Amino acid sequence: MKRRDFCRLSLITGAAVAVPASRLIAASDASSQPGSTDLRAVKLSGAETSIEGAAVRDLRASLSGTLLAPGDEGYEGARRIWNGMIDKHPALIARCADTTDVVHAVTFARERELLLAVRGGGHSFPGYSTCDGGLVIDLSPMRSVVVRADDRTARVGGGAWGAHLDAAAQKQALATTLGQISNTGVAGLTLGGGFGWLARRFGLACDNLISVELVTADGKVRHISERDEPDLFWAVRGGGGNYGVATSFEYRLHPLNPTVLGGHVDFPAGQLKDAIEFYAELITHGPRELSVDLSLAPNEDGTPGAQIYAVYSGDAKSGAKVLEPLQRFGKPIKNTIGQQSYLAVQTWFDTPPIDPTHWYLKGGFVREYSSELIALLAHEFQPAAGTSMYFQSANGAVADVPQTATAFSHRGAIANMMLFGLWKNASQDESGRQAIRAFWSKLAPFTDGYYVNLHDTDPKDKGTDSNYGPNFSRLAALKKQFDPMNLFHLNANIKPA
Ligand SMILES: Cc1cc2nc3c(=O)[nH]c(=O)nc-3n(C[C@H](O)[C@H](O)[C@H](O)COP(=O)(O)OP(=O)(O)OC[C@H]3O[C@@H](n4cnc5c(N)ncnc54)[C@H](O)[C@@H]3O)c2cc1C
Repeated sequence: MKRRDFCRLSLITGAAVAVPASRLIAASDASSQPGSTDLRAVKLSGAETSIEGAAVRDLRASLSGTLLAPGDEGYEGARRIWNGMIDKHPALIARCADTTDVVHAVTFARERELLLAVRGGGHSFPGYSTCDGGLVIDLSPMRSVVVRADDRTARVGGGAWGAHLDAAAQKQALATTLGQISNTGVAGLTLGGGFGWLARRFGLACDNLISVELVTADGKVRHISERDEPDLFWAVRGGGGNYGVATSFEYRLHPLNPTVLGGHVDFPAGQLKDAIEFYAELITHGPRELSVDLSLAPNEDGTPGAQIYAVYSGDAKSGAKVLEPLQRFGKPIKNTIGQQSYLAVQTWFDTPPIDPTHWYLKGGFVREYSSELIALLAHEFQPAAGTSMYFQSANGAVADVPQTATAFSHRGAIANMMLFGLWKNASQDESGRQAIRAFWSKLAPFTDGYYVNLHDTDPKDKGTDSNYGPNFSRLAALKKQFDPMNLFHLNANIKPA
C-alpha cells in the first residue's frame, strides 16, 4: 500500500458492551462544577457505575498533570485518537505528567474496577487506547528523551513518539528500530514488537530494550530488566499492554549514518506480477542492511500499481551495488531512490496524528511468497483509492532471537502482510469493514499468526492463545500474577490463567 493514502463498542473482558452516548454526555454535568456532582461511568464488567464528585476532585488534586471530564476545555481534542473511525467518550482522561500520576490513576481505576484504557501515541488501529465511559491514562505529556552517546542508550518517556527518539538519537548519529510513521507512540509499538526499516539489521524495537519502568495493576512501580523481574521483562517484549503502564523505556542504540540510500520504484498494473516476484526474491536474499517493502496501491497517476520501497542503512557504496538490480528492473513509471536523511525516510508515510480518515486493517505474518499467494495478489487484488496492501519486511536479526526468548513469537516470518481499507464517513464503516474482511478471507490461509499491534476486533479472528504459540501459557500465568482482575484488557488481551 502507499500508506500516505493510508459503535460505540468497548471490549470488556471479552464481552462487547454498548454504552449509550446520552448517558455519557450526562456526565458532563459533573465537570461543569468539578467535585460537586457524581460522574457516570462504566466498570470493567460493563456495568454502569457512578464516581463520586469528591473522588474526582481528589484525583484531580493529586495529579501534576490534568484530569479532563466531558465538558472540560480540551476534552474534545483529548478524547480523539489517530483513527478517525474511533469516536469514543471516556468518563475521565488523566493526562499524566509523571510516574506518580500514573500510580494515582491506576489505583483509582483498580479500586473502582473502572474500565481502563492506556494511551501512548494513540495509534491503535482498533481504538484500544480510548473507551466509552471509562478512564483513559494518557501519557502524552511524558515525552522526554535522554540520549547517552557514551554508552549508546536512550531513556524515553512512555508517551513519546518515534520522531522524538529518532531526532534525539540522530543528533549523535545513533538510532534503534522504530516504526515507519514518525508520530506512532514508542510505547504501544515496542510492547507489541516493533517493526521498521532497521528491524532486519538491529532486531525488533522490543529486542533493543534494556529496561522498562512499569506501573503494574497493584500500583507498584517496577524497574524491570534481564536482571530485575526478568519474567515480567520477558512478558512486555511482545505481550503488549497486558502487564501494566510503561512509564519509560531504556533502549540500546546503534551507530547509524544520518544519510541512507532509499526511495521507491513504482510499476504500472501490467508489471504487477513481475514486480511482486522481483520484490519477493530481493527481500528473501537481500542483506540485513536492506529493508524492502511492497505496496500494492494506486500510483501517483491514480492507476493501480505496485511500489517497491527500499532502504539500505549500510555504507553508500555497498548500498548502490545491492540496489542496482532494483534500479535496472522492469519499466518503472517512477524511481526516487537516492541519498536521503534517515529522519526524512521516517516520515515517508506520515498522516496527521489525529487523522479524520476512517481506517480499517487486517494483517497476518507470511513465512514465504508462494506462487499461489503471488498469483492471488497479481490476479485478484485490485489496488484502489480506498483499498491497498502493504508488506513490511521482517526476518534477518528478528529471526536471530529464539522464539521463546521473548514473548514475541513470530520470529520465522518473512513479512507482515496488511490489507487496508480507508474511507471518509461513518456511514461507510460497516460496508468498508465487510469488504476488507471478505478479501482477507482469501489471504488469511497464507498467514501464520498475526501481529498483536494490529489486532482486530473481528469476533471471527483467532484469540491470542494460539497466536502466542509456545509462549502463551507463561504469558497467561504472568497475567494472573500481575493483573488477576484483567484491568489492562483493552489490547490483544491475554486472559489471566
Ligand atoms: C499509521 C500506522 C502505522 C504503523 N506503522 C507501524 C510500523 O511501522 N511498525 C510497527 O511495528 N507497527 C506499526 N503500527 C502499529 C503500532 O505499532 C500500534 O498501533 C501501536 O499500538 C501504536 O502504539 P501507540 O503507543 O501509538 O498506541 P496507542 O494507541 O497509544 O496504544 C495502543 C495500545 O498499546 C498499549 N500501550 C500504549 N502505550 C502504553 C504504555 N505507555 N504502557 C502500556 N501500554 C501501552 C495499550 O494496550 C494500548 O491500548 C502502525 C500503526 C499505525 C496506525
